[in-house]
Amino acid sequence: MILHLAIFLCTLVAMEGVGFLAHKYVMHGPGWFLHRSHHEPHLGVVETNDVYLLVLALVAITLIVLGNAGHDPLQWIGAGVAAFGIIYVLVHDGIVHRHWPVRPKPRHPYLRRLYQAHLMHHAVKGRRNSVSFGFLYAPPVRVIKRQLREMRESEARVEDRRQGDFLDEARG
Ligand SMILES: [Zn+2]
Ligand SMILES: [Zn+2]
Repeated sequence: MILHLAIFLCTLVAMEGVGFLAHKYVMHGPGWFLHRSHHEPHLGVVETNDVYLLVLALVAITLIVLGNAGHDPLQWIGAGVAAFGIIYVLVHDGIVHRHWPVRPKPRHPYLRRLYQAHLMHHAVKGRRNSVSFGFLYAPPVRVIKRQLREMRESEARVEDRRQGDFLDEARG
């Protein structure tokens, strides 16, 4: 039982890492066409981004079914994946984006930090140069602010260089 609980908790923690990587390199990478709906003004209750949640649910269910069919301890890994999904929906959809009729205000410092960090993720338009890809852990707000500033500065440098090249070409 202790071992199972440990597997469950480890999966939950590991899922934050998986989520971070998936958000940064898949959702803001080749999977942007699905995630994009989440970075645009809302049109309806569901968005194409929910496909990712569906995939998460399928993975969790498959693991739980396999575990219950005798492949112990897959059901505990599945439970960890499911718990991550549930917490994500509660925190991300409920508290940060307030998609629900009841709109809880984040009072707890931890929730406030998640809230602010995720708003900064949404402060960057488009898929590139974003910050704060985590869901259940966020670095301190000042760290994210610095990252955001550095991103903007490097983007401005690239733009300057582009304009410089253009002028050079125009001058011939
Ligand atoms: Zn995003
Ligand atoms: Zn969001």
